[in-house]
Amino acid sequence: MKLLITRTLTDDVMRRARAEFDLLDRATNTPLGQAETIEALHKADILLPTLGDALGAEAFTGDGLRCKLLANFGVGYNHIDVEAARAHGIAVTNTPGAVTDATADIAMTLLLMTARRAGEGERLVRAGKWSGWHPVQMLGQHVTGKRLGIVGMGRIGQAIARRAHFGFGMQVAYTSRSPKDLPFPAEALPLPDLLSRCDFVALAVPASPETHHLIGARELSQMQPHAVLVNIARGDVVDESALIHALQSHRIAGAGLDVYEFEPDVPPALRALDNVTLLPHLGTATAEVRSAMGHMALDNAIAFRDGHPLLNPV
Ligand code: NAP
Repeated sequence: MKLLITRTLTDDVMRRARAEFDLLDRATNTPLGQAETIEALHKADILLPTLGDALGAEAFTGDGLRCKLLANFGVGYNHIDVEAARAHGIAVTNTPGAVTDATADIAMTLLLMTARRAGEGERLVRAGKWSGWHPVQMLGQHVTGKRLGIVGMGRIGQAIARRAHFGFGMQVAYTSRSPKDLPFPAEALPLPDLLSRCDFVALAVPASPETHHLIGARELSQMQPHAVLVNIARGDVVDESALIHALQSHRIAGAGLDVYEFEPDVPPALRALDNVTLLPHLGTATAEVRSAMGHMALDNAIAFRDGHPLLNPV
C-alpha cells in the first residue's frame, strides 16, 4: 500500500514506515497546500497528515479518491473536515494519550514562566541589563496554593490538574462538557464562575465550532486583574485581538501561549508585550513523544492495511 507522510518524522518512525509501506515522503516541513492535498488523496492509499495540512471540505471533492485513511499525527484534528472525509469513505485516526504528559508539562512551564516573569527576567540577563538582586526586584505571583481553573477536563486537562494539585498544592476547579470522577479534589464550575474565581486559567479543549473564541472580550473581563491565562489548546479558542487588548490594558495580568489564532503569525502587538510568555507550539516537542506519536499513527495505518479494527478512530 502507498503511504504518504506529509512531514518528515523521527528517524525510527521513517525507517518503520519504509519497511512496512511503499512510502511517498515529502522532503519538506511545510504544510500540504490545497492542490498538493488533492493530488495526495488521489495517489496514496493512506495519508499520514498533521497540523496545518489543508484537509478541509474542499479537499474531498470529485470522485476517484484513492485514499481510505487519514492517520493523523496529533490528537488535535481541527485541520481535517472529518464529516467530509467520512462522506468520501475515508476514515480518520489520531494519537491520543501519547501527547498528554508533554503538553501538560508545557502548560505548567507557561504558568510558572508567566507568574514568575521568567521570560522577562531572561531577556533582562541576556541584554546585560541586570543590575543585581534586590528585595523588590521583578516581583511575580506566588503559584503554590493558588486556584487554577481548567477549561476542558480531558486527558491533558487532568494531567495539568494532577501536576497543579500534587506538585504545587493548588486548588483545582474545572469547566467541562460532562461531569468527571477524578482521583483528586476538583470543583466543577460554570465557565463565568471559574473565570471570576481563579488566579490562573488553563485552556485544554479541542478546537471546534463550539470552542471557537470560547474566550473573548466578555470572558476576559470576567477574569480577575491579577489572573493569568494559559493556552495550550488551539489558538482560535481565544479571540486573540481581545486578548491583546486585555493584556495591554492590564485587564488581566498575563498570558502564557503555546498556540496562536493565525499560527505561525504572532501579531507584533503580542510580541511587544512583556507580560506574556510566547512559545512556538512546543506542547509535544520531545524526541520520545514525537516518536511515540509517529508509531501510534503507523499502528493505525498497519491495522487498516491488515484489515483489523482501527486503534484510535476519531
Ligand atoms: P480530550 O481528552 O478529548 O479532552 C478535551 C476535553 O475538552 C474533554 O474533557 C471535553 O469534554 C472538553 N470539551 C470539549 N468541548 C468543550 C466545551 N465546549 N466546553 C468545555 N469543555 C469542552 O483531548 P486532549 O487529549 O486532552 O487534548 C485537548 C486538545 O489539546 C486537543 O484537541 C488539541 O487541540 C490540544 N493539544 C495541543 C497540543 C500542543 O502542542 N499545544 C498538544 C496536544 C493537544 P468531555 O470530556 O465531556 O468530552
